[in-house]
Amino acid sequence: MLFAHDTEVSLVAAAALINTSGSEELLPDPAALDAFLAPWTWTGKRTHDEEEVSAVRALRPKLRQVWGAGEDEAVDLVNAMLRESPALPQLVKHDGWDYHMHATTPDADLHVRMQVEFAMAMLDVIRMKELDRLRFCAADDCNDVVIDLSKNRSRRFCENGCGNRTNAAAYRARKADALARSARPRTPSKAAASRAEDE
Ligand SMILES: [Zn+2]
Ligand SMILES: [Zn+2]
Repeated sequence: MLFAHDTEVSLVAAAALINTSGSEELLPDPAALDAFLAPWTWTGKRTHDEEEVSAVRALRPKLRQVWGAGEDEAVDLVNAMLRESPALPQLVKHDGWDYHMHATTPDADLHVRMQVEFAMAMLDVIRMKELDRLRFCAADDCNDVVIDLSKNRSRRFCENGCGNRTNAAAYRARKADALARSARPRTPSKAAASRAEDE
């Protein structure tokens, strides 16, 4: 494992949150937010209203700024996030999760808890000089962020199928190229043609 478990979960959750704002709005209403949060077992205060979901939507561009930021800029952004909350790190155990860090009280607003959780995770990432784990999807037509937690730093595509799509497109292009080549009538090569002129 590269980072502490809760750090990795927070980073993956933050990337997933940012990627709900791609070409399509994936958090249009409170029900969509509930569905998004379900796999992450978020605890603490929830209001399930329009205000909550719009505050969470507004958090996304703020988190995205950290992707692609240089070290000093990332530090400024993360420190500002922690100051705003304000964060008070505590170890807690709940819902089958072993000890992990919470830095806000359970009655803080959801977007505040999400912001602090991400900022706390970034403390590890920056101190471990692993900022380049935060990337953008390598597909030309995709703006999604990627968090690369792989051993060999090999992750290039987001989780929305860009890897498969890009590989499939490359395969089709190779196949079409091979087909075009085999179908092309044989023409004498340049060298053969100039030899023919010499004769
Ligand atoms: Zn927790
Ligand atoms: Zn992508």
